[in-house]
Amino acid sequence: MRYFIGNWKMFGVPKSINILNKINSFISKDKNRNKYRAIFTPPYTLLESYCKQFKNKNIKIGSQNCYQKDHFSSNTAAISSYMIRSVGSEYTLVGHSDNRGEGDNDQMLKDKVKFALKNNLKVIFCIGENKIHKRKKQTFKILKKQLVSVLDSKLNKRNIIIAYEPIWSIGTGKIPNNKDLFNTIIFIKKTLAKIFKKNGPAVIYGGSVDKNSVQMFKQIREIDGFLIGGASKSYKKFIDIIKNYYR
Ligand code: PEP
Repeated sequence: MRYFIGNWKMFGVPKSINILNKINSFISKDKNRNKYRAIFTPPYTLLESYCKQFKNKNIKIGSQNCYQKDHFSSNTAAISSYMIRSVGSEYTLVGHSDNRGEGDNDQMLKDKVKFALKNNLKVIFCIGENKIHKRKKQTFKILKKQLVSVLDSKLNKRNIIIAYEPIWSIGTGKIPNNKDLFNTIIFIKKTLAKIFKKNGPAVIYGGSVDKNSVQMFKQIREIDGFLIGGASKSYKKFIDIIKNYYR
């Protein structure tokens, strides 16, 4: 199974559903549709209506984040996994570099993952090095720390997807070279195999994925799918990524 996950970030109003309607109808006619899953993470304001709209359709819906406490609490503006699940959402992103940059630390991320899984959400857990780590050749060290400090063998790996997103690649048009990316994906898979004591969760790539870059990424069969930011806001760009992947 491959994943094409669109992260809308701070984008979208109710009528933006037209974008997803077009993608949904493309998928319903696509001969490859059984080989992949399309998931979108709209902002919280659209979560409930989009979940209703796409129930039993070809697009799954998730949130972009969740709070590190269970059920209800007195934290203003916080939204828990329990609340996210209650409106029909099936997935949540955890640990996106935007949120790590705003203060999410390993303990908070561990709690987010724990409560998300407890509330029957599937977790898309984001990891990635910044450009200084890359320059200092610390990528593997950073990725290992991000994985081992949050994940453990008691978690259900079938409900977790790891999104490797080099921060320097997000929204920049810069992508890793084929050899580096292959080595990094293999390193992540080996690290996960140690944590989960056999095969670990699926590993996807995110960072400037578009219809052109996907031609290179698809040569690395170990990549189980993509987390797509900018190009997920246009139905045409998103569909072109899927089309080029299976071409
Ligand atoms: C992202 O926001 O997670 C992302 C990968 O963005 P982009 O595809 O625009 O680089």
